[in-house]
Amino acid sequence: MARYTDGLCRICRREGAKLFLKGERCYTDKCAFARRAYAPGQHGQGRKKPTPYCIQLREKQKVRRMYGMLEGQFRLFFERADRMKGVTGDNLLRLLETRLDSVTYRAGFAISRGDARQLVRHGHVNVNGRRVTIPSYIVKLGDVIEVRARSTGFKRVQEASAFAQRTATVRWLAIDRAKFKATVASLPEHEDFQDLLPGTEDGDRKGIREELIVELYSK
Ligand code: SF4
Repeated sequence: MARYTDGLCRICRREGAKLFLKGERCYTDKCAFARRAYAPGQHGQGRKKPTPYCIQLREKQKVRRMYGMLEGQFRLFFERADRMKGVTGDNLLRLLETRLDSVTYRAGFAISRGDARQLVRHGHVNVNGRRVTIPSYIVKLGDVIEVRARSTGFKRVQEASAFAQRTATVRWLAIDRAKFKATVASLPEHEDFQDLLPGTEDGDRKGIREELIVELYSK
């Protein structure tokens, strides 16, 4: 299966926002975006006025890359969100947030979504007591997500958990850090998505403008 193998910091710089793809490093002054907040490459600092299409495309690319997805799968998620009742943009972000790899990351069991995906793929995560190895598995209200008992001693899991205690909590997850267990107490709502990309002191864009993704795919 195709996958992205280039530098992760390039993605943040290209999309003009911190996407927190590398875990703890993203919160330090080693962050490449904090040091060079312009697109990579020879023309990265060129001033080109973006067209409306370009703005929509960049917003879609930003969200897609934040969740580490390829275009085909992201498009399928959009089509699924479009078929659901309610606001398509909110449905899309809710689907993305409730992916098992994303929940594993948001619960603080992995240092990044990429790390969470590997934990899931390698069978270290249970849902309702059963091993699930599909990162795109969508968790439901009341589901219990936990790191398997024999995997809780992993250095990467311990470090991620210790780091998560210092960062913000997730309102819609009931997390028991001692047991490496999280319960989906409610499904994420619109206001939860606004915290997905916190702004920085450098003034980079805050939040996600999901309506631009809907406009792009609705052309
Ligand atoms: Fe790299 Fe900073 Fe992006 Fe983290 S937030 S992946 S350190 S550029």
